[in-house]
Amino acid sequence: MSTRKLPDNLHPDTLAVRTAVEKSQYGENSEALYLTSSFVQPDAATAARRFANEEEGYIYSRFTNPTVTSMELRLAAMEGTEACIGTSSGMAAILLMCLGLLKSGDHVICSQSVFGSTIKLIGSEFAKFGVESTFVSQTDVAQWQAAVRPTTKLLFAETPTNPLTEVCDIGALARIAHAAGALLAVDNCFCSPALSQPVKLGADLIIHSGTKYLDGQGRVIAGAICGPKKLIDEKLLPIMRSAGMSLSPFNAWVVLKGLETLSIRMQAQSANALALASWLEAQPAVARVYYPGLTSHPQHALAMQQQTLNGQGCGGAVVSFDLKAADADGARKNAFHVIDSTCVCSITANLGDTKTTITHPSTTSHGRLSEAQRQAAGIGQGLIRLAVGLEHIDDLKADLARGLDSLT
Ligand SMILES: *Cc1c(COP(=O)(O)O)cnc(C)c1O
Repeated sequence: MSTRKLPDNLHPDTLAVRTAVEKSQYGENSEALYLTSSFVQPDAATAARRFANEEEGYIYSRFTNPTVTSMELRLAAMEGTEACIGTSSGMAAILLMCLGLLKSGDHVICSQSVFGSTIKLIGSEFAKFGVESTFVSQTDVAQWQAAVRPTTKLLFAETPTNPLTEVCDIGALARIAHAAGALLAVDNCFCSPALSQPVKLGADLIIHSGTKYLDGQGRVIAGAICGPKKLIDEKLLPIMRSAGMSLSPFNAWVVLKGLETLSIRMQAQSANALALASWLEAQPAVARVYYPGLTSHPQHALAMQQQTLNGQGCGGAVVSFDLKAADADGARKNAFHVIDSTCVCSITANLGDTKTTITHPSTTSHGRLSEAQRQAAGIGQGLIRLAVGLEHIDDLKADLARGLDSLT
């Protein structure tokens, strides 16, 4: 039997298709799906050693499974972290991280523009257990600095944000976190490792919703945390073992295969998004376009430094735009008209799919906020979010033009 082993220093594109558990039973070229809840032990003594963590070996899929391990190895290689732990969803990843890092009396600083469920989890659910939190402006570094307390343990950001695509300076937030003896976690859902590897900019932990670009075709719910091996092994894996927010082997396998095409999907979808954003800026019915790849974006320069694909700045594949209207009622009517005039785009709140999705944030993803909270966040009734897919750009323009043209 040869001892072929992947060489060091491979390019990210190679890692994305080649990194996985190396052993294969039958020589299968596509990684096997180990759809099993438990693993048979060769004898009682081996079982005892494995349960006591004295010997490596699979025991039970609540805490380890070879298909999940393959996904974890591949994602860690792509993020440039030592290790990764798969979870049942993106929210389960954030839950596991908070359970592992925080205790009563600790303090978290979080961007006020992160995913809505993240705000609820940290701001409401963990508050019940005495974890304190301060929510600050995504883009104002001084607010993050001013929020630091002696008890601050974690800074949490997401970039670019949903739906307004605000970009934060990861390096600056990492310096604030480390000076305070805290960790910086970045939700890298929108960029994916194809565009940004936040650990290279100083972040300590990366959160993923595998549901989005990592799967890439809207098939499964999945999540992961990437970071230092010691932290994952000692602080997170024991909680996974007792609390069970485990990633299903089937969902891990879907994400594992999705990762192989991540880079080329991000490239094609981002190119479509840039073309669509530029076109939207020129439409008379459109008041404003939010897209980091446009020079009109307030953090365009930072985004082009922080998000790159094949050595070039890349805005990603999410574009939002505001419609012109006399008042909030008119804005909502116009937005519903544009959304309902599409035939190609899917009217759904998911994102990261090869199918373009269109959504009205103020009545869907951000519908649970009060009108005052929405206004503070800049999410008006005329705002539409697109998560651009792989359809031909001309078909996407025509799909939106149908509604936009009839407004002017
Ligand atoms: C969707 C999403 C999540 C939550 O992920 P689930 O897999 O749906 O639990 C977290 N963060 C961001 C930025 C997301 O878009």
